[in-house]
Order: sequence, then C-alpha cells, then structure tokens
Amino acid sequence: MFSWFGKVSFVPYSKVQDFAVHLKDGRLMGSVCKECGQRSFPPRADCSECMSGEFEFREWNGKGTIHTFTRIEAAPTGFEDDVPFTVAVVDLEDGGRLLAWTGETIPFGEVRIGMEVQVVPRIFEEIEPIKVYYTLERPGTTWGKAPKSE
Ligand SMILES: [Zn+2]
Repeated sequence: MFSWFGKVSFVPYSKVQDFAVHLKDGRLMGSVCKECGQRSFPPRADCSECMSGEFEFREWNGKGTIHTFTRIEAAPTGFEDDVPFTVAVVDLEDGGRLLAWTGETIPFGEVRIGMEVQVVPRIFEEIEPIKVYYTLERPGTTWGKAPKSE
C-alpha cells in the first residue's frame, strides 16, 4: 500500500494505514488525539504531546499558508523532465505541515511566503502502483484526478 508514496513509508505504524486509503479517495486525513486533542498531519498513531495511542481520523480542509518555498533548477534523479519546479512547505489550518509542489494555478512569480493555498491531492490511476501526490493551488480549487499523460 505504501508503494503509492514511493520508497519511503513516512507513516511507520500499520494503525494509520487507512490514511492511504482516504488519500486514494482524494481526502486529506489528519489524526486527532482522543486524550488531549493534539492534531497531527501526517497522522500519528501515538500522540507527540501525551503519548496516548488513542486517536481518530479527521478530514483536513487542506487550507494552508506557505511557510517557505524553493525553486528546483537542478533536477534530482528521476525528475529531469520536470525542472524547473517549485516546492513549498505549508502550515495547514487544521494542524501540521506538508511539503508539496505548486500546481498549475499558481505561477512561480506569484509564490509568496504567507500566501494562502489549497492542498489538492492528485491521483494517477492509470499506472501501477497507483500514485498519489499533492499540489498547492489557489484557494477554492477542488481535488481531481491528474490528467492522463498523452
Ligand atoms: Zn494526546
């Protein structure tokens, strides 16, 4: 299941594997600690504040503001066809942080620290294994399946 995210399983506990299932549906899920209310994204099975293992999934609204960003000009291996591109760290309104590429609704020249964005999960279903990734779009953009590559 975590092959959807590439080689790195960034969620180390099987307790939170439903996260990947929700992502496939285009939903962005965080976790909320049932003991102290701590909100985490990506979801954590064990609370970073009180160490409780009791949590529930909550759907995040995907709204956030850009904390910082960078322009990638020299491609890492495997991304040679994609440069230049912009990645940004976003502080999510519902809690937590996320790293994502800026999407087509935000030209590079308009990217600013503090800018409001909408996180949009994109899904490639045509290829195996199914790939899910995020883009940052203008507020109000809804999620969708990535266009088929011609
Ligand atoms: Zn807690």
